[in-house]
Amino acid sequence: MRTTSELLLIADQRRPRTQQKDIGVSDLGSCRRRVGYKLAGAEPVNPSGNIQAVIGSAIHDMVAQIMEKVAEPGDLVEHEVRFAGILGHLDRFEASTGTVVDTKTTGSRWLEHIKLHGPEHAHLWQVSVYAAALVTMGYDAKRVRIEYLARDTGEEYLWPGPDGAPLNPRNVRDAMEWLQQVRDTSLDMLPRDYDPDSVFCLGCPFGGPDGGICWEGHVPERDRRSVLYLDDPNAQKWADELFDLRKQIKDLQDKEKRAKGALDAIRPEMGGHVRCGNKTIDFRRNPKDPTKFSLYFVAGGES
Ligand code: SF4
Repeated sequence: MRTTSELLLIADQRRPRTQQKDIGVSDLGSCRRRVGYKLAGAEPVNPSGNIQAVIGSAIHDMVAQIMEKVAEPGDLVEHEVRFAGILGHLDRFEASTGTVVDTKTTGSRWLEHIKLHGPEHAHLWQVSVYAAALVTMGYDAKRVRIEYLARDTGEEYLWPGPDGAPLNPRNVRDAMEWLQQVRDTSLDMLPRDYDPDSVFCLGCPFGGPDGGICWEGHVPERDRRSVLYLDDPNAQKWADELFDLRKQIKDLQDKEKRAKGALDAIRPEMGGHVRCGNKTIDFRRNPKDPTKFSLYFVAGGES
């Protein structure tokens, strides 16, 4: 018997893009150690992938299918590009506006974060590198747009808006500098940028449920992160780091309390939205204790 998720993962493993061993544009800004393994030609040990990626791939496939029917002259769909020798497949290029469009699927909670704080640098780098690659091929690519789609709610968010943003060469330069730093660092010195139980590590070709080659060698029966200690067996250093972090957390919590207390001065009696300069705060009454309010920043409420 095979379950639905098992079948989906098998289908994903057979996709040419999943089998691509060289680094690709979508690796820019991701885990530095994963890119290091690819550059070193390490053999993948975890074929499993993850369901979130499969859902994302299926959405890309459906968009590509419909675009074949509705694309306008000059538009590009799932187009292969190369920039500085790095292979990539851009999602869409709208010829009429000169805009490269990248679709990203996400969870609704992370989407709220993106709406408040903007796209992750990796997303900006990737869409910018796709646009730069098109420019080198003679296309008039001058704008970029990232379309986020929440898997659980279906909400769509266009960054920075329907017209996109001008292509910023700084993003391309930053991505290339990041890659050069990874190239210049020996593999065993490259940081593991995600946690072993994160969806990234569980679906990583060099990680997986058993930790793969990335987390192997940890202390038996202990946290996988114990491999970090074996890499750098300096108990004083780790203890100092924990001590300093706890102090910073305490200081930040105190500062948060202070700012929230100050803002209580402008809380509407029954709660609600209040404009604070270029931000909007939502004062929400606690359903369990109506005398208490929580403060939330309203996504899209900045100006
Ligand atoms: S397992 Fe995690 S930390 Fe290790 S290379 Fe993969 S994504 Fe990076």
